[in-house]
Amino acid sequence: MRGTKIIFLLLLFGHLSALPDTIRIGGLFHPEDDKQEVAFRYAVERVNADRAVLPRAKLLAQVETISPQDSFHASKRVCHLLRSGVAAIFGPQSAPAASHVQSICDTMELPHLETRWEYRTRRESCLVNLYPHPAALSRAYVDLVRAWGWKSFTIVYENSDGLVRLQELLKAHGPTELPVAVRQLPESHDYRPLLKQIKNSAESHIVLDCATERIRDVLQQAQQIGMMSDYHSYLITSLDLHSVDLEEFKYGGTNITALRLLDPERSDVQRVVRDWVYDEARKGRKLQLGHTSAKENMTFIKTETALMYDAVHLFAKALHDLDTSQQIDVKPLSCDAEDTWPHGYSLINYMKIVEMKGLTGVIKFDHQGFRSDFTLDIIELTRDGLQKAGTWNSSEGVNYTRSYGDNQKQIVEILQNKTLIVTTILSAPYCMRKEASEKLIGNAQFEGYAIDLIHEISKVLGFNYTFKLAPDGRYGSYNRETKEWDGMIRELLEQRADVAIADLTITYDREQVVDFTMPFMNLGISVLYRKPIKQPPNLFSFLSPLSLDVWIYMATAYLGVSVLLFILARFSPYEWDSPGNCIDEPQVLENQFTLLNSLWFTIGSLMQQGSDIAPKAVSTRMVAGMWWFFTLIMISSYTANLAAFLTVERMDSPIESAEDLAKQTKIKYGALKGGSTAAFFRDSNFSTYQRMWSFMESARPSVFTSSNKEGEERVMRGKGSYAYLMESTTIEYVVERNCDLTQVGGMLDSKGYGIAMPPNSPYRTAISGAVLKLQEEGKLHILKTKWWKEKRGGGSCRDETSKSSSTANELGLANVGGVFVVLMGGMGVACVIAVCEFVWKSRKVAVDERKEEASLCSEMASELRSALKCPSTGSGGGPANTRDGAGSPYLHYGFSTKSQLH
Ligand code: GLU
Repeated sequence: MRGTKIIFLLLLFGHLSALPDTIRIGGLFHPEDDKQEVAFRYAVERVNADRAVLPRAKLLAQVETISPQDSFHASKRVCHLLRSGVAAIFGPQSAPAASHVQSICDTMELPHLETRWEYRTRRESCLVNLYPHPAALSRAYVDLVRAWGWKSFTIVYENSDGLVRLQELLKAHGPTELPVAVRQLPESHDYRPLLKQIKNSAESHIVLDCATERIRDVLQQAQQIGMMSDYHSYLITSLDLHSVDLEEFKYGGTNITALRLLDPERSDVQRVVRDWVYDEARKGRKLQLGHTSAKENMTFIKTETALMYDAVHLFAKALHDLDTSQQIDVKPLSCDAEDTWPHGYSLINYMKIVEMKGLTGVIKFDHQGFRSDFTLDIIELTRDGLQKAGTWNSSEGVNYTRSYGDNQKQIVEILQNKTLIVTTILSAPYCMRKEASEKLIGNAQFEGYAIDLIHEISKVLGFNYTFKLAPDGRYGSYNRETKEWDGMIRELLEQRADVAIADLTITYDREQVVDFTMPFMNLGISVLYRKPIKQPPNLFSFLSPLSLDVWIYMATAYLGVSVLLFILARFSPYEWDSPGNCIDEPQVLENQFTLLNSLWFTIGSLMQQGSDIAPKAVSTRMVAGMWWFFTLIMISSYTANLAAFLTVERMDSPIESAEDLAKQTKIKYGALKGGSTAAFFRDSNFSTYQRMWSFMESARPSVFTSSNKEGEERVMRGKGSYAYLMESTTIEYVVERNCDLTQVGGMLDSKGYGIAMPPNSPYRTAISGAVLKLQEEGKLHILKTKWWKEKRGGGSCRDETSKSSSTANELGLANVGGVFVVLMGGMGVACVIAVCEFVWKSRKVAVDERKEEASLCSEMASELRSALKCPSTGSGGGPANTRDGAGSPYLHYGFSTKSQLH
């Protein structure tokens, strides 16, 4: 029962929807655009051959050839097609002709299918354009440029259509960003002057919008003037870059990116192309391919050609869909009569709601009739030709499918065939001329840390390199007046070098204009100065362990204690003794602590020698005990400190740090002209460094040097009147060889040396990786030891230091001379006192014996005579140890017989 119903309905519909057997469709093509026509015809054949697409009718292609600029002829040919009863018009490709065709089709309500870029596309008309809408394409370019983070770029366009295509890109570029230059390609085929202007503006990001046929010419001429380097990036707006022969640009390393609608990797696309080529060959039609693989044949399929194929299929599908709902008949229309095709609008609406997969991806239209939801492939030129790097679609934007790792791998592959130009400057120990008897050329001329470093990196990445010294021998500083860079940075910016390797400091200013790798060495600014002059040891350095105050206090204590001992001994009855042990009740009591004896006792114990005198009373013993304690501590402290004072050489340095430099004006100081050290002081906000900078700037003659070597020589020549602000690593190198120089104070900042490359260099990550690898493997450390400590006189000052430290314990006469002086002084004073004593005693004897004044001299002479006589047993003779009446041992001279114990 149900089956009968379906058969009935099918019969009914079959009857109602009977399409004419042949549906004519008109195609308007230009003679030079024969591939469009071929595609059109081929698509019609495919539709007719595939019964599933249009089961009950066949399409008949009716082709008219018109000239692109002749719109009058175009309208006549359209009218001719209408008269013959076509159901739709396809083409043409040229804008003037197409607009005429469009208006006729609108009037006749006849579907008009276009496959070309058209920004005037109106909604609600009879036009169905399969080409992506300009606004959507424009958005894709904006998204790409954003994804790459281009801050500035130059748009090179051919005609006003290009500007319309890129208007979103111009609008999206904010006012805060760097300016965008817009330049038009000249009519002539010589683009070099224009390209040179772009090159001079140092712009490396170019958006090229021109006819597909001109792309190769433009790129070739760009290559001729050196604008196809590793650092240039081109965004090509044509969707047909795959049809351009880019063979000669594949190995240049230039970043060439474009979008495409047609994915040649898709198997269905390849199948269609293969069948097509085969078909054409079978029919003897020439396609001028000459390629064997389907992928290679893709180059002849332009986007518009594929769109024509899709347009015919879209039409067929819509017709089939319409056929299922209403009876369609196609009638001839006349341009002279106000005639319309009743099914036209329905067919157009069906076309707009159809969703199908064509050669150019999903064909779908939004509610306004613009092609929506299409996906564009992002393609990049690699060594293997154009490769898909990602996709773009209106909802998700840019989506890179190629991973970061893949990109890097590709860059390393590119590097392996490259010879990089390495700029450097002569600066020991980073790059020095090799000393050799024969004349060296090329890379062999140089040696040093930087030379070895780039060699190690090249071993990791496999590239070749040639050295090129920066012509001005400078590192790179920005001249604010001329707004130009100099030195190695300039070489990079003008793309005369690919890499700069030296003791080039990574600074903020430089980082803005060039790319740096990871630092390969860390350092900071410090001061290079003459070693402090060794002070000759002080003659009285034995006094140094105690300060003057302590010496004074000690002397005072000595006198005080002696006097106290004297007084207490007088007070204490136990200190009064009979002069002889045998006398029981002596008439005279004796006290041994006379003032002189007290002084003698205290000095004896201070000098750790003792004396014959000993206190007997508790009070005096207390004094003596405390004094001994005092001397014990004082003497131990003195001894402990004396060793240090006698052995340590006193170095007298007027400056200990950069701050000390800032505080004074006697010692001049400077830095390398145009180097990062000078820039540090110039740009510092710290008041000390600002003061130092103004001092340096105002100093005459100039304190700036043109090389570190010159700075070193100036410090040497200055003999302490010049200090040089230098980087710690270089100071380390210098002081290792020049033993008269030293680093003063610590580091003022902390930074690193990096390898610089032109901005956007694709090799930065790879070279950074190689630097890290070398660091982790310890190679950088080995290189540093080699060039700092071993080569070119390294370690010579180390020997000197060890020599001086080994002899440090030996004291010279200079160290202890003062002790001899004191000894001699003491002996002298003793002699003087002895003379005084002699004179004093002789006078006393003379007076006692009531001799005349005149006889003093004779008395002294006789005393002297007896004193000089050899000691013998004779009485009244020379000195003899005798016992006086008290039994005490006294040393008697000639006059001793008359002496008394006082
Ligand atoms: N390394 C410094 C530079 O890159 C040069 C030496 C210096 O300024 O002390 O500019």
